[in-house]
Amino acid sequence: MANGDWKQKVSEARRRAVEWMRGRRGADDIVYACIYLAFILGVINIFAHWAWMSWLALALLVYGLFRIQSKNLAARSRENESFLKAIGPLRPWLQNPKAAATEAKQFKHVKCSHCGQKVRVPRGKGRLRVTCPKCREKFEVKS
Ligand SMILES: [Zn+2]
Repeated sequence: MANGDWKQKVSEARRRAVEWMRGRRGADDIVYACIYLAFILGVINIFAHWAWMSWLALALLVYGLFRIQSKNLAARSRENESFLKAIGPLRPWLQNPKAAATEAKQFKHVKCSHCGQKVRVPRGKGRLRVTCPKCREKFEVKS
């Protein structure tokens, strides 16, 4: 087969994939969570050999595929929003684990004792006197 044929086939396949994706959401945060979880279950199951765990991993992947190909964008979008709300502080770890790890290493998150505002302080600087950016309350934290 000539090189040109192969290139043409690839671009044809890409064009078809783009066409198929039109009007669909593609992978969202729930899909990534399903894939991660299925992968983790798969790794655990290398040692555990539980049939139900393989089925659960498979079900997660099937559900992920269902979400990728779904054309009901409004419903999927709603589900994704409530999912992100539900996982709360885990959100950055799912969306960008590397950045979340760097962030956790360099900064500590504390809550203002007065208004509950979250404040980010650098780690390893001893005792810090913090002024809350929201209510101007001053408090000390161990960084
Ligand atoms: Zn405050």
